[in-house]
Amino acid sequence: MRIGVLAVQGAFVEHERILTKLGAECVQLRKNSDLRQEFDGLVLPGGESTVQGKLLKELSMFEELREKIVQGLPVLATCAGLILLAETLEHSSECWFRTLPVTIRRNAYGRQLGSFSAQGRILGLPDQERLFPLEFIRAPYIAAIGKRLNNDKVQPIAQIAKMPDGSEGQNIVGVRYQNQIGLAFHPELTKDYRCHQLFLSLC
Ligand code: GLN
Repeated sequence: MRIGVLAVQGAFVEHERILTKLGAECVQLRKNSDLRQEFDGLVLPGGESTVQGKLLKELSMFEELREKIVQGLPVLATCAGLILLAETLEHSSECWFRTLPVTIRRNAYGRQLGSFSAQGRILGLPDQERLFPLEFIRAPYIAAIGKRLNNDKVQPIAQIAKMPDGSEGQNIVGVRYQNQIGLAFHPELTKDYRCHQLFLSLC
C-alpha cells in the first residue's frame, strides 16, 4: 500500500516513520509532479496551516489534492491538516479545502495549555477500551460539527477522557466524515499506532 504524505512543511517525517513500520510505502508530496504517482491514502500533517495552505497553492498542488479528497481518497489529517480540511474557520474568512463539515477554532487552548498531554477514547480502534495518549500542540478546537444534506454525518471519533490535571474532559478532538479522518492531536508523536492502523484500514 502506498501513502502520499504532504511534505511541504511540518511534522511529516513522524507519520512516515509509523506508516513504514506498519508496512506501508510512503511517497513525499512536495510538488505538483509528485501527484502523478499513484497512492491509496493521503496524510496531511501538523505544522502551520496558513503556511501549508499558501504553499499548496504556490506549488500548484491545491486543486488536484482537493479533487482527490472529494473523489474519496482516504485522508488522515492531524492538527494543521484538520484546519486545512475544515469547511469553516472561526473568526477568519480564510479557509482551505473545505471538504470536512466542521467549524474550527485555531490555537484554541490559549497560552497556558499551548501544548499538553491528555488521555482519550477513540472509536473504531482495536482494543478500544485502552485509552489513547493525546498530544496537543497549539491545537485547534472542533467548535461545531456540520451536517450534509445527504445525511452523511460527521462522526465524532475521538474525545478527551482525562485532562492533564486529572479532571474529566469532554471535548471532541477527532472526527470522521466519509473518507476523511481529522484529529486535533498528534498520534504521530506517540508510540500507539492505532490511529494510523485505523487510517490504513480505510486505504
Ligand atoms: N496552530 C497551528 C495552526 O493553526 C496548528 C498546530 C499544529 O499543527 N500542531 O496551523
